[in-house]
Amino acid sequence: MFGKGLFTGLGITLKRMLGPNITEFYPEEMPNLPPRTRSSMGLDPEKCISCNMCANACPNKVITITSEKGESNKKVLKSYRMDVGRCLFCGLCTEACPTGALHVTQQFENAIYEADELKWDMIERAGKSRGRGEQA
Ligand code: SF4
Ligand code: SF4
Repeated sequence: MFGKGLFTGLGITLKRMLGPNITEFYPEEMPNLPPRTRSSMGLDPEKCISCNMCANACPNKVITITSEKGESNKKVLKSYRMDVGRCLFCGLCTEACPTGALHVTQQFENAIYEADELKWDMIERAGKSRGRGEQA
């Protein structure tokens, strides 16, 4: 019928006008994110055994790890970098991690000005978030 689309659209508008207010007041109030939101990555360097399984599991080659031999020939983590601009937040790396050192987090305020700032030093970030009392 001619004009049916117009009335459907007006119906939706009316429903929204009379329904509950859904305005979010971010950044004054932090939003309640859906529980399955995945927007950032966190590392607990103390739990990391430098096995490289996360890097091997990543389909986009986001993770680069370097390590050195420590006491009793054990690997000690030296650097852990993620090129987050290429990350899909698919979580495959966290599933591969045998120690639970790597996890997906809901931290979403990751806006930057330079693309290079998306190359995260995960050890440094873990230290900073610990200083702020957050989960790495
Ligand atoms: S979340 Fe996915 S894309 Fe991102 S580093 Fe892990 S495996 Fe790679
Ligand atoms: S899989 Fe886990 S323990 Fe192994 S290198 Fe990655 S973060 Fe570290």
